[in-house]
Amino acid sequence: MAEAIFGAGKGHEIVFGTIFGTGVGGGLVSCGRLVNASGGVAGEWGHGPVVPMVVGETRIPHFACGCGLAGCLDTVAGARGLEHLHAHLSGVEAEATSILADWHAGRPRAQHTVETFLALVAGPLAMAVNLTGATIVPAGGGLARDHALVRALDRSVRPLTLTRPSHPLVVPAESGDEPGLVGAAVIGFQVLSDRYSS
Ligand SMILES: [Zn+2]
Repeated sequence: MAEAIFGAGKGHEIVFGTIFGTGVGGGLVSCGRLVNASGGVAGEWGHGPVVPMVVGETRIPHFACGCGLAGCLDTVAGARGLEHLHAHLSGVEAEATSILADWHAGRPRAQHTVETFLALVAGPLAMAVNLTGATIVPAGGGLARDHALVRALDRSVRPLTLTRPSHPLVVPAESGDEPGLVGAAVIGFQVLSDRYSS
């Protein structure tokens, strides 16, 4: 909500906000309103057994997920997931920040991990874009502070969508340090406005 009203999604009718933090999360805003049905999990694209078993020549196991399933995007796409993926692919335990620093430095093992990460995330995210009709995907959370990673993800996702937009689709979030609080305040204001206007 913060991104849709004040951030990178401002002016877009449908905004699919993504979080690349410890894990992967998301939220869907349509015409300035949060789509919040089905127990509040609408837009949670991180769970479900969607990770392909092979990317290029690389076998990817279906890691167990905290939600009880295995092969969820959440197991490979947040900070812990990136670390898990890197440990599996390279045999090296490293923190996400260090993996990304090595990727920026052009170190081959980190490049392989990040390229695999991008391939794993791009397909499900393109599907989410098709499914929701979102025209902008603000990306927040700790991993998304690496804007080069967000740009690389954008380049990976756009060719996989049906609309293949020429403008950036996945963009860094812009709504500051406490987007959750801002979004909650917006929703609270909307609830009160609805109550007093009816
Ligand atoms: Zn899961």
